[in-house]
Amino acid sequence: MLRFNPFFTALKKSFTSLYDFILPGLCVTCGGKIDRAFGFICGKCGAIIIQHGGRMIEGRERRNLKRAFYLYPYESWYGVDVGNAVRTLKYSGYHGIALELAELMMETLVKRLEFIEADAIIPIPLHTSRKRERGFNQSELIAGELARRLDIAFIDPLKRRKNTASQAELSSYERELNVKGAFELRGNASVEGLTIILVDDQFTTGATMNNAAGVLLDKGAYEVVGLSVTH
Ligand SMILES: [Zn+2]
Repeated sequence: MLRFNPFFTALKKSFTSLYDFILPGLCVTCGGKIDRAFGFICGKCGAIIIQHGGRMIEGRERRNLKRAFYLYPYESWYGVDVGNAVRTLKYSGYHGIALELAELMMETLVKRLEFIEADAIIPIPLHTSRKRERGFNQSELIAGELARRLDIAFIDPLKRRKNTASQAELSSYERELNVKGAFELRGNASVEGLTIILVDDQFTTGATMNNAAGVLLDKGAYEVVGLSVTH
């Protein structure tokens, strides 16, 4: 796996806060000293995430999803800020963060669940122009690593039709409108009869995940399980 010099990667981008700046040897979820070589998330945070993380999302929030799970709350919890790990991944492009988040998702979620039987793992796509700008899709990195570890096919049949506004500042209703009709299946892609794990970095109101799942179900997918890093 390629590892970029974090200083150069970080300097190339502008950051929203100093905390988003990756400091070599410092944990991206607590800011403490990393106790293992080439790590981004320290062993202490890893243990806390495994102990307290791995939750189900219920109710209307998961309407098109057979089940929905997330690794850890977006806001800091038990002193562990997984939301910062996701933001740092997006801004820095340090792929190793995605691999460690996928490893923790394996530890906390997948080992406890039977949906390992899925036929395919699919990431929530970014719009082409957004992906070009960022250089990668963080959900794709995480989904790819989960697929590799679970030995489940990784496919990327979804496409974003419109470059939706950032969901961050929107109300729940506005989020629904914002992602309505946002996804479609690529030209000759087929998901007919497949049990799918749909992966995103963040599950807020579920608008994005449910919209994408709706498209997959419309196109004949058997069922869709949602998996996100934060909620
Ligand atoms: Zn830590």
